[in-house]
Amino acid sequence: MIPIFDGHNDALTREGSEDLARRSERGHLDLPRMREGGMRGGIFAIFTPSDGEPSRQVSFGASGSYAEPLAEPVAQEVAAAHAVRIADRLLDLERRGEVVVARSIADVDSARREGAPPVAVMHLEGAEAIDGELKLLDTWYKRGLRSLGPVWSRANVFAHGVPFRFPSSPDVGPGLTERGFALVAACAERGIVVDLSHLNEAGFWDVARLEPGPLVASHSGAHALCPASRNLTDRQLDAIGTSGGLVGIVFATPFLRPDFADDPNTPLRLIAEHARYVADRIGVAHVALGSDFDGATIPGSLAGVTGLPLLVAALRRAGFEPAEIEAICWGNWRRILAAWWR
Ligand code: ZN
Repeated sequence: MIPIFDGHNDALTREGSEDLARRSERGHLDLPRMREGGMRGGIFAIFTPSDGEPSRQVSFGASGSYAEPLAEPVAQEVAAAHAVRIADRLLDLERRGEVVVARSIADVDSARREGAPPVAVMHLEGAEAIDGELKLLDTWYKRGLRSLGPVWSRANVFAHGVPFRFPSSPDVGPGLTERGFALVAACAERGIVVDLSHLNEAGFWDVARLEPGPLVASHSGAHALCPASRNLTDRQLDAIGTSGGLVGIVFATPFLRPDFADDPNTPLRLIAEHARYVADRIGVAHVALGSDFDGATIPGSLAGVTGLPLLVAALRRAGFEPAEIEAICWGNWRRILAAWWR
């Protein structure tokens, strides 16, 4: 089975995820099912919902146009307390030898050894848990944080986030705040990946201008195939390619389908089509996976992480060579993480 590194999941914050070492019938992902599907590593998001609900899955309509205002902001103290609790779920798994929390690229490589535990990259999806003066950033780095999105799809002191809209350009709202610029610079200095997936287009270009490292959108699709505000325009794709970065192709059906339908009855082939589109435009070195397991509706035929071998077969059918599939499934993410963590 080909080893897979996936760029984004929300398993740590889904309901019933207090112990991911136990197999569950709920959601898309836990450690036993990861083993079964060949997923040996991934970026594990820590997310604080606006409304205090334990689960954070966003649902959209059956199809057609859609517009939602940005979610309510969340207070820094609330987010900090919640995020520490969620991070502890991951650190507890590490203490028990169930996962390795990546602190260096050697940790990522270790997960490819036969019988080794999988590797998890700790990620903040929205940086509300970090104060505006960035005093907590080093504490988080020590805790294991190696990746962060300045915003989820809501405003905070760093940026504005992209609202969920369809059809819509991602150019909705203002870019980074002054504190947002400082956050991106501080992340680049320490070696914390800055993820662009929930930024609006102004924020995207603000980060790009800082040249903090290869540009990364951990879980997005191609706007040319699905004109949702969360997807990347050709110009954004070109910038990602030029920077040496990557797009983790999202499995969330609203961002895959041309009609935005939040519908599990969506063919797996669409994921391969987005991968194909990005590869044809900027090169296969800039294509990777970014499922959004446990954060969105995914094609039903995958049935969660255990279905990954079916996706590999779909990539093969889309014309990718074995070496290209290896790069999409592992090598490209490894290159990006190594570049940011140097
Ligand atoms: Zn997300």
